[in-house]
Amino acid sequence: MADCIFCKIINKEIPADIVYEDEEGIAFRDIEPKARVHFLIVPKKHVLSADRLEACDKELIGSLVLVAQRIAKEQGVSETGYRLIFNVGRDAGQTVDHLHLHLLGGEKLPFA
Ligand code: 5GP
Ligand code: ZN
Repeated sequence: MADCIFCKIINKEIPADIVYEDEEGIAFRDIEPKARVHFLIVPKKHVLSADRLEACDKELIGSLVLVAQRIAKEQGVSETGYRLIFNVGRDAGQTVDHLHLHLLGGEKLPFA
């Protein structure tokens, strides 16, 4: 998707602090962190949101969680805890229309 900011990060057209990448996805630091630890785990496939996932995306969605788990460990929040969030649509505050999993931690998070 030509005008998608996350596709541009995936295609290295704009910079990001990338901490993980494989054939299916990429993970990078959120540009406006909402917690001490805040990463986005993003599939390379341009899916609009979790609402648009299909049965064939089962593995893809699973791999996002496994990448999150790995980053949580690397960032030292596995033991202290962390939150994984998919914002889906406008009422949930989704601002980038390319599926992404938020990983937040490193501090006591407000109740969600
Ligand atoms: P959403 O609100 O859609 O669930 O989350 C989008 C997230 O992407 C926000 O937390 C925002 O700070 C982050 N973001 C938006 N544009 C960029 C960017 O160009 N680079 C990075 N690293 N993060 C971005
Ligand atoms: Zn995209």
